[in-house]
Amino acid sequence: MENCLFCRIIEGELPCEKVIETSHYMAFKDIHPKAPVHVLIVPKRHVERPEELRPEEIGDMLVGSEEIAQILGVKDTGYRLLFNIGKHAGQEIDHAHLHLLGGAPAKGMY
Ligand code: AMP
Ligand code: ZN
Repeated sequence: MENCLFCRIIEGELPCEKVIETSHYMAFKDIHPKAPVHVLIVPKRHVERPEELRPEEIGDMLVGSEEIAQILGVKDTGYRLLFNIGKHAGQEIDHAHLHLLGGAPAKGMY
């Protein structure tokens, strides 16, 4: 979608620090990491909310999260997967994306 930051990254118009990519998603490092490991798993198809994703897209993203955790060395220590949805969650970018956070103990749930 035009003027969407994540669509522009996926199209290669803007740079990113890519971790892995499949036909359904691109995973790249968050530019302002909130944890020692912070990766965004971004579906290639522009949808605003995760419930608009197709089962094969969400399935691929979840399988990918384990691979990313393995690549970045947090699979054994653990990590968090998180969708921010809407205003109260602080969603800044209206292109659904799954956060993978790890590398240190999380400080509470909310
Ligand atoms: P959310 O609040 O769930 O919408 O998360 C948006 C995330 O995108 C934030 O953690 C930002 O730090 C991150 N972000 C914003 N711009 C970029 C960018 N150009 N490359 C990588 N991550 C970004
Ligand atoms: Zn988009």
